[in-house]
Amino acid sequence: MKAAVVKDFTSPLVVEEVELPAPGPGQALVKVLYSGVCHTDLHAAHGDWPVKPVVPFIPGHEGVGEVVAVGDGVKRLGVGDTVGNAWFWSACGACEFCVTGRETLCPDQRNGGYSVDGSFGQYMLVDAAYAPVLPAGVDLRAAAPILCAGVTVYKGLKESEVAPGQWVLVSGVGGLGHIAVQYARAMGMRVVAVDVSDDKCALARRHGAELAVNALTDPDPEGTVKEFTGGGVHGGLVTAVNGKAFSQAVGSLRRGGTLSLVGLPPEQFPLDIFSTVLLGLTVRGSIVGTRADLAEAVDFFARGLIEPTYTLRPLTDVNAVFDEMAAGRIEGRVVMDMSA
Ligand code: NAD
Ligand code: ZN
Ligand code: ZN
Repeated sequence: MKAAVVKDFTSPLVVEEVELPAPGPGQALVKVLYSGVCHTDLHAAHGDWPVKPVVPFIPGHEGVGEVVAVGDGVKRLGVGDTVGNAWFWSACGACEFCVTGRETLCPDQRNGGYSVDGSFGQYMLVDAAYAPVLPAGVDLRAAAPILCAGVTVYKGLKESEVAPGQWVLVSGVGGLGHIAVQYARAMGMRVVAVDVSDDKCALARRHGAELAVNALTDPDPEGTVKEFTGGGVHGGLVTAVNGKAFSQAVGSLRRGGTLSLVGLPPEQFPLDIFSTVLLGLTVRGSIVGTRADLAEAVDFFARGLIEPTYTLRPLTDVNAVFDEMAAGRIEGRVVMDMSA
Protein backbone atom coordinates (compact mmCIF):
# COMPACT_ATOMS: atom_id res chain seq x y z
CA MET A 1 0.00 0.00 0.00
CA LYS A 2 0.99 3.64 -0.42
CA ALA A 3 1.67 5.65 2.77
CA ALA A 4 3.38 8.85 3.94
CA VAL A 5 6.21 7.87 6.27
CA VAL A 6 8.19 9.97 8.76
CA LYS A 7 11.79 8.75 8.43
CA ASP A 8 13.37 11.26 10.84
CA PHE A 9 12.36 14.50 12.55
CA THR A 10 14.14 16.87 10.14
CA SER A 11 13.30 15.49 6.67
CA PRO A 12 10.10 15.71 4.66
CA LEU A 13 7.75 12.72 4.76
CA VAL A 14 8.34 10.08 2.08
CA VAL A 15 5.32 8.79 0.17
CA GLU A 16 6.22 5.19 -0.67
CA GLU A 17 5.02 1.59 -0.89
CA VAL A 18 4.93 -0.13 2.51
CA GLU A 19 3.77 -3.57 3.57
CA LEU A 20 0.04 -4.03 4.14
CA PRO A 21 -0.49 -4.59 7.89
CA ALA A 22 -2.35 -7.71 9.08
CA PRO A 23 -5.00 -7.37 11.79
CA GLY A 24 -3.99 -9.09 15.04
CA PRO A 25 -6.47 -10.40 17.64
CA GLY A 26 -9.02 -7.70 18.50
CA GLN A 27 -8.01 -5.52 15.55
CA ALA A 28 -9.54 -4.63 12.19
CA LEU A 29 -7.93 -3.64 8.90
CA VAL A 30 -9.49 -0.52 7.40
CA LYS A 31 -9.24 0.77 3.84
CA VAL A 32 -8.74 4.49 4.43
CA LEU A 33 -10.88 6.78 2.29
CA TYR A 34 -10.10 10.17 3.85
CA SER A 35 -7.83 11.50 6.56
CA GLY A 36 -7.77 14.91 8.18
CA VAL A 37 -4.41 16.55 8.86
CA CYS A 38 -4.08 17.74 12.47
CA HIS A 39 -1.35 20.07 13.75
CA THR A 40 -0.46 17.19 16.10
CA ASP A 41 0.74 15.28 13.01
CA LEU A 42 3.13 18.14 12.32
CA HIS A 43 4.37 18.12 15.95
CA ALA A 44 4.81 14.33 15.63
CA ALA A 45 6.75 14.56 12.37
CA HIS A 46 9.04 17.21 13.92
CA GLY A 47 9.51 15.36 17.23
CA ASP A 48 8.32 18.52 19.03
CA TRP A 49 7.29 16.93 22.33
CA PRO A 50 9.14 15.35 25.28
CA VAL A 51 7.84 11.83 24.45
CA LYS A 52 8.80 11.28 20.81
CA PRO A 53 7.40 8.69 18.41
CA VAL A 54 9.76 5.97 17.19
CA VAL A 55 10.74 6.44 13.54
CA PRO A 56 9.82 5.32 10.96
CA PHE A 57 6.09 5.79 11.49
CA ILE A 58 2.92 6.77 9.61
CA PRO A 59 1.08 9.80 11.13
CA GLY A 60 -2.65 10.50 11.00
CA HIS A 61 -5.48 10.16 13.54
CA GLU A 62 -8.50 11.52 11.67
CA GLY A 63 -8.89 8.63 9.24
CA VAL A 64 -12.22 7.26 8.03
CA GLY A 65 -12.75 4.20 5.90
CA GLU A 66 -14.21 0.77 5.49
CA VAL A 67 -13.38 -2.40 7.41
CA VAL A 68 -11.97 -4.98 4.98
CA ALA A 69 -10.79 -7.68 7.41
CA VAL A 70 -11.03 -8.46 11.12
CA GLY A 71 -8.67 -10.35 13.43
CA ASP A 72 -9.50 -13.14 15.89
CA GLY A 73 -12.16 -12.46 18.49
CA VAL A 74 -13.58 -9.29 16.91
CA LYS A 75 -17.34 -9.02 17.45
CA ARG A 76 -17.99 -5.27 17.56
CA LEU A 77 -16.93 -4.62 13.93
CA GLY A 78 -17.52 -6.48 10.70
CA VAL A 79 -16.36 -6.24 7.10
CA GLY A 80 -18.09 -3.30 5.39
CA ASP A 81 -18.52 -1.18 8.55
CA THR A 82 -17.55 2.49 8.31
CA VAL A 83 -15.11 3.36 11.08
CA GLY A 84 -12.30 5.73 11.93
CA ASN A 85 -9.11 5.88 13.92
CA ALA A 86 -8.37 8.42 16.63
CA TRP A 87 -5.49 9.77 18.74
CA PHE A 88 -6.95 7.73 21.64
CA TRP A 89 -6.38 4.46 19.75
CA SER A 90 -6.67 2.00 22.65
CA ALA A 91 -6.14 1.76 26.40
CA CYS A 92 -5.68 -0.92 29.06
CA GLY A 93 -9.32 -0.95 30.15
CA ALA A 94 -8.41 -1.89 33.72
CA CYS A 95 -6.46 0.91 35.44
CA GLU A 96 -7.95 3.46 37.88
CA PHE A 97 -8.46 5.95 35.02
CA CYS A 98 -9.99 3.48 32.58
CA VAL A 99 -12.56 2.30 35.13
CA THR A 100 -13.57 5.79 36.35
CA GLY A 101 -14.63 7.40 33.05
CA ARG A 102 -11.23 9.01 32.45
CA GLU A 103 -9.78 6.55 29.98
CA THR A 104 -7.88 9.25 28.03
CA LEU A 105 -5.56 9.46 31.08
CA CYS A 106 -4.64 5.75 30.88
CA PRO A 107 -0.84 5.43 31.20
CA ASP A 108 -0.95 2.37 28.92
CA GLN A 109 -2.89 3.95 26.07
CA ARG A 110 -1.76 3.78 22.45
CA ASN A 111 -1.99 6.79 20.17
CA GLY A 112 -2.98 6.70 16.50
CA GLY A 113 -0.32 8.06 14.16
CA TYR A 114 2.16 8.25 17.04
CA SER A 115 2.76 4.99 18.91
CA VAL A 116 0.69 3.02 16.35
CA ASP A 117 0.78 3.72 12.60
CA GLY A 118 -1.99 6.07 11.54
CA SER A 119 -4.21 7.07 8.65
CA PHE A 120 -1.77 8.72 6.20
CA GLY A 121 -1.89 5.59 4.06
CA GLN A 122 -4.28 3.51 1.99
CA TYR A 123 -4.89 1.07 4.89
CA MET A 124 -4.64 1.25 8.68
CA LEU A 125 -5.24 -0.93 11.70
CA VAL A 126 -7.75 -0.03 14.41
CA ASP A 127 -8.52 -1.59 17.78
CA ALA A 128 -12.02 -2.98 17.36
CA ALA A 129 -13.02 -2.05 20.93
CA TYR A 130 -11.95 1.59 20.58
CA ALA A 131 -12.45 2.59 16.93
CA PRO A 132 -15.23 5.15 16.41
CA VAL A 133 -18.11 3.85 14.27
CA LEU A 134 -19.67 6.35 11.88
CA PRO A 135 -23.42 6.44 11.32
CA ALA A 136 -24.81 5.69 7.86
CA GLY A 137 -25.37 8.59 5.53
CA VAL A 138 -22.83 11.12 6.87
CA ASP A 139 -20.38 12.89 4.55
CA LEU A 140 -17.15 11.00 5.30
CA ARG A 141 -14.91 13.85 4.10
CA ALA A 142 -16.43 16.27 6.58
CA ALA A 143 -16.59 13.55 9.25
CA ALA A 144 -12.81 13.03 9.28
CA PRO A 145 -12.01 16.26 11.22
CA ILE A 146 -14.61 15.36 13.86
CA LEU A 147 -12.48 12.39 14.96
CA CYS A 148 -9.79 14.60 16.50
CA ALA A 149 -10.60 18.29 16.12
CA GLY A 150 -14.30 17.76 16.83
CA VAL A 151 -14.05 15.54 19.89
CA THR A 152 -11.14 17.53 21.33
CA VAL A 153 -12.92 20.88 21.25
CA TYR A 154 -16.24 19.37 22.34
CA LYS A 155 -14.55 17.86 25.41
CA GLY A 156 -12.49 21.00 26.02
CA LEU A 157 -15.63 23.14 25.92
CA LYS A 158 -17.30 20.85 28.48
CA GLU A 159 -14.20 21.21 30.65
CA SER A 160 -14.46 25.02 30.42
CA GLU A 161 -17.69 24.72 32.45
CA VAL A 162 -19.29 27.55 30.46
CA ALA A 163 -23.08 27.38 30.78
CA PRO A 164 -25.58 28.10 27.99
CA GLY A 165 -25.89 31.86 27.49
CA GLN A 166 -22.43 32.57 28.90
CA TRP A 167 -19.33 33.79 27.04
CA VAL A 168 -16.58 31.46 25.86
CA LEU A 169 -13.27 32.43 24.28
CA VAL A 170 -11.93 30.36 21.40
CA SER A 171 -8.26 31.28 20.95
CA GLY A 172 -6.85 30.01 17.65
CA VAL A 173 -9.26 29.58 14.73
CA GLY A 174 -7.46 26.79 12.87
CA GLY A 175 -8.62 23.22 12.33
CA LEU A 176 -9.67 22.84 15.95
CA GLY A 177 -10.76 26.41 16.61
CA HIS A 178 -13.17 26.89 13.69
CA ILE A 179 -14.94 23.70 14.77
CA ALA A 180 -14.86 24.84 18.42
CA VAL A 181 -16.82 27.96 17.47
CA GLN A 182 -19.54 25.69 16.04
CA TYR A 183 -19.70 23.26 18.99
CA ALA A 184 -19.79 26.19 21.40
CA ARG A 185 -22.77 27.66 19.55
CA ALA A 186 -24.50 24.28 19.39
CA MET A 187 -23.96 23.97 23.17
CA GLY A 188 -25.65 27.34 23.69
CA MET A 189 -22.54 29.39 24.41
CA ARG A 190 -21.76 32.89 23.10
CA VAL A 191 -18.42 33.01 21.31
CA VAL A 192 -15.54 35.44 21.17
CA ALA A 193 -12.66 34.28 18.95
CA VAL A 194 -9.02 35.36 18.74
CA ASP A 195 -6.46 34.61 16.03
CA VAL A 196 -3.59 36.44 14.38
CA SER A 197 -5.01 36.88 10.87
CA ASP A 198 -8.00 38.70 9.45
CA ASP A 199 -8.91 35.64 7.35
CA LYS A 200 -9.17 33.44 10.46
CA CYS A 201 -11.22 36.13 12.19
CA ALA A 202 -13.59 36.19 9.20
CA LEU A 203 -13.86 32.38 9.34
CA ALA A 204 -14.77 32.56 13.04
CA ARG A 205 -17.48 35.15 12.33
CA ARG A 206 -18.86 32.99 9.49
CA HIS A 207 -19.22 30.11 11.94
CA GLY A 208 -21.00 32.23 14.52
CA ALA A 209 -18.49 34.15 16.68
CA GLU A 210 -20.04 37.45 17.83
CA LEU A 211 -16.60 39.06 18.09
CA ALA A 212 -13.32 38.04 16.44
CA VAL A 213 -10.16 39.83 17.53
CA ASN A 214 -6.90 39.93 15.55
CA ALA A 215 -4.32 39.76 18.35
CA LEU A 216 -1.58 41.02 16.02
CA THR A 217 -3.28 44.27 15.09
CA ASP A 218 -5.37 44.96 18.22
CA PRO A 219 -3.10 46.75 20.73
CA ASP A 220 -5.07 45.34 23.71
CA PRO A 221 -6.85 42.04 22.84
CA GLU A 222 -7.68 41.24 26.49
CA GLY A 223 -9.18 44.70 27.00
CA THR A 224 -11.27 44.37 23.84
CA VAL A 225 -12.62 40.98 24.98
CA LYS A 226 -13.34 42.23 28.50
CA GLU A 227 -15.18 45.29 27.28
CA PHE A 228 -17.29 43.36 24.75
CA THR A 229 -18.28 40.69 27.29
CA GLY A 230 -18.85 43.04 30.22
CA GLY A 231 -15.97 41.82 32.38
CA GLY A 232 -14.41 38.89 30.58
CA VAL A 233 -15.34 35.46 29.28
CA HIS A 234 -16.75 32.85 31.67
CA GLY A 235 -14.42 30.27 30.20
CA GLY A 236 -12.15 29.58 27.26
CA LEU A 237 -10.43 27.09 25.05
CA VAL A 238 -6.91 27.72 23.75
CA THR A 239 -6.15 25.88 20.52
CA ALA A 240 -3.48 28.32 19.32
CA VAL A 241 0.00 27.00 18.63
CA ASN A 242 1.76 29.91 20.36
CA GLY A 243 2.57 30.50 24.04
CA LYS A 244 1.49 34.17 23.91
CA ALA A 245 -2.09 33.14 23.20
CA PHE A 246 -2.19 31.23 26.51
CA SER A 247 -1.30 34.29 28.62
CA GLN A 248 -3.74 36.41 26.64
CA ALA A 249 -6.52 33.88 27.22
CA VAL A 250 -5.90 33.86 30.98
CA GLY A 251 -6.02 37.66 30.87
CA SER A 252 -9.40 37.56 29.09
CA LEU A 253 -11.14 35.51 31.80
CA ARG A 254 -13.89 36.84 34.01
CA ARG A 255 -13.46 36.41 37.76
CA GLY A 256 -14.01 32.73 38.59
CA GLY A 257 -13.41 31.72 34.96
CA THR A 258 -12.01 28.41 33.71
CA LEU A 259 -9.59 27.96 30.85
CA SER A 260 -9.10 24.65 28.99
CA LEU A 261 -5.64 24.33 27.47
CA VAL A 262 -5.74 22.25 24.30
CA GLY A 263 -3.04 23.62 21.95
CA LEU A 264 0.40 22.04 22.37
CA PRO A 265 3.13 24.49 21.34
CA PRO A 266 6.46 23.16 22.65
CA GLU A 267 6.99 26.12 25.01
CA GLN A 268 5.99 27.48 28.44
CA PHE A 269 3.84 30.43 29.48
CA PRO A 270 3.94 32.43 32.71
CA LEU A 271 0.87 32.04 34.94
CA ASP A 272 0.54 34.99 37.34
CA ILE A 273 0.05 33.64 40.86
CA PHE A 274 -1.52 36.77 42.37
CA SER A 275 -4.33 37.22 39.82
CA THR A 276 -4.98 33.46 39.52
CA VAL A 277 -5.51 33.28 43.30
CA LEU A 278 -7.35 36.58 43.84
CA LEU A 279 -9.66 36.15 40.84
CA GLY A 280 -10.29 32.46 41.57
CA LEU A 281 -9.24 31.27 38.11
CA THR A 282 -8.98 27.65 36.99
CA VAL A 283 -6.51 26.58 34.30
CA ARG A 284 -6.65 22.96 33.22
CA GLY A 285 -5.39 20.72 30.45
CA SER A 286 -7.80 18.81 28.24
CA ILE A 287 -6.73 15.88 26.06
CA VAL A 288 -8.95 14.61 23.21
CA GLY A 289 -12.00 12.75 24.57
CA THR A 290 -13.21 9.34 25.69
CA ARG A 291 -15.10 6.94 23.42
CA ALA A 292 -18.32 8.35 24.88
CA ASP A 293 -17.23 11.96 24.20
CA LEU A 294 -16.37 10.96 20.63
CA ALA A 295 -19.75 9.30 20.08
CA GLU A 296 -21.46 12.49 21.35
CA ALA A 297 -19.28 14.70 19.13
CA VAL A 298 -20.13 12.54 16.09
CA ASP A 299 -23.81 12.77 17.00
CA PHE A 300 -23.73 16.61 16.95
CA PHE A 301 -22.13 16.34 13.49
CA ALA A 302 -24.58 13.72 12.21
CA ARG A 303 -27.48 15.98 13.23
CA GLY A 304 -26.10 18.72 10.96
CA LEU A 305 -24.98 21.09 13.73
CA ILE A 306 -21.29 21.07 12.78
CA GLU A 307 -20.01 21.83 9.27
CA PRO A 308 -16.22 21.71 9.08
CA THR A 309 -14.63 23.99 6.49
CA TYR A 310 -12.16 21.79 4.59
CA THR A 311 -10.14 21.40 1.41
CA LEU A 312 -9.53 18.02 -0.24
CA ARG A 313 -5.94 17.22 -1.19
CA PRO A 314 -4.09 14.11 -2.40
CA LEU A 315 -1.71 12.23 -0.05
CA THR A 316 1.22 13.27 -2.24
CA ASP A 317 0.62 16.89 -1.13
CA VAL A 318 1.37 16.02 2.51
CA ASN A 319 4.63 18.00 2.77
CA ALA A 320 3.11 21.07 1.12
CA VAL A 321 0.16 20.81 3.52
CA PHE A 322 2.55 20.71 6.50
CA ASP A 323 4.36 23.83 5.18
CA GLU A 324 1.05 25.68 4.80
CA MET A 325 -0.02 24.60 8.29
CA ALA A 326 3.25 25.81 9.85
CA ALA A 327 2.71 29.17 8.11
CA GLY A 328 -0.90 29.41 9.37
CA ARG A 329 -2.24 29.49 5.80
CA ILE A 330 -4.87 26.71 5.97
CA GLU A 331 -8.51 27.70 6.15
CA GLY A 332 -10.22 25.18 8.45
CA ARG A 333 -8.90 21.65 7.84
CA VAL A 334 -7.14 19.82 5.04
CA VAL A 335 -8.65 16.39 4.37
CA MET A 336 -6.54 14.05 2.26
CA ASP A 337 -8.29 11.85 -0.29
CA MET A 338 -6.52 8.48 -0.30
CA SER A 339 -7.93 7.52 -3.69
CA ALA A 340 -6.40 10.61 -5.37
P1 NAD B 1 -3.94 24.73 13.17
O1 NAD B 1 -2.56 24.96 12.67
O2 NAD B 1 -4.99 24.30 12.22
O3 NAD B 1 -4.49 26.01 13.95
C1 NAD B 1 -3.72 26.76 14.84
C2 NAD B 1 -4.28 28.18 14.82
O4 NAD B 1 -3.61 28.96 15.83
C3 NAD B 1 -4.07 28.91 13.50
O5 NAD B 1 -5.29 29.42 13.01
C4 NAD B 1 -3.12 30.03 13.86
O6 NAD B 1 -3.30 31.22 13.07
C5 NAD B 1 -3.50 30.26 15.31
N1 NAD B 1 -2.52 31.03 16.09
C6 NAD B 1 -1.17 31.03 16.00
N2 NAD B 1 -0.64 31.91 16.87
C7 NAD B 1 -1.68 32.47 17.54
C8 NAD B 1 -1.79 33.45 18.56
N3 NAD B 1 -0.69 34.04 19.09
N4 NAD B 1 -3.02 33.79 19.00
C9 NAD B 1 -4.13 33.22 18.49
N5 NAD B 1 -4.09 32.28 17.51
C10 NAD B 1 -2.88 31.93 17.04
O7 NAD B 1 -3.77 23.61 14.33
P2 NAD B 1 -4.88 22.60 14.93
O8 NAD B 1 -4.89 21.35 14.13
O9 NAD B 1 -6.13 23.34 15.17
O10 NAD B 1 -4.18 22.21 16.33
C11 NAD B 1 -3.96 23.21 17.31
C12 NAD B 1 -3.13 22.69 18.46
O11 NAD B 1 -3.91 21.78 19.23
C13 NAD B 1 -1.87 21.94 18.08
O12 NAD B 1 -0.81 22.29 18.98
C14 NAD B 1 -2.25 20.49 18.26
O13 NAD B 1 -1.16 19.63 18.54
C15 NAD B 1 -3.14 20.62 19.47
N6 NAD B 1 -4.10 19.51 19.67
C16 NAD B 1 -4.36 19.16 20.94
C17 NAD B 1 -5.29 18.17 21.20
C18 NAD B 1 -5.64 17.81 22.62
O14 NAD B 1 -6.27 16.78 22.82
N7 NAD B 1 -5.28 18.60 23.61
C19 NAD B 1 -5.94 17.52 20.14
C20 NAD B 1 -5.66 17.94 18.84
C21 NAD B 1 -4.73 18.94 18.61
ZN1 ZN C 1 -5.33 15.71 16.37
ZN1 ZN D 1 -5.96 2.14 31.59
